[in-house]
Amino acid sequence: MKLTINPNVVNEGNQMEILQLEADEMEMIVRCNNCGKPTKYGMTRMCSGFVGCDNKIKVDGKEIECYFDDLMPRVRKCKESSDKKLYELYRSGKVYRWRDGADGGINDYEKEVSNG
Ligand SMILES: [Zn+2]
Repeated sequence: MKLTINPNVVNEGNQMEILQLEADEMEMIVRCNNCGKPTKYGMTRMCSGFVGCDNKIKVDGKEIECYFDDLMPRVRKCKESSDKKLYELYRSGKVYRWRDGADGGINDYEKEVSNG
């Protein structure tokens, strides 16, 4: 059975996979929804229900931080967008790179838009 933890009780879809159980919840190893890499639950960061971490990820050849450089700018962009489809991604919480990227999330949508 796949174990999950839900840091945002309002949004069921924000569950993160638990990779390693520990007696201390903060020490548990979870898979970050945004970068897909393992991180300590106690080291995750959350704002407005969107959870990321401090892992470094490579995007377009540049090394950036999961939460501050990747997730948060995308969340802000969707939240402030007048494009209904982007705003809906924000409302439904489908803005994660790793979890939603291959699932009709923003990455696919942005490709769709740039391809016309
Ligand atoms: Zn992450």
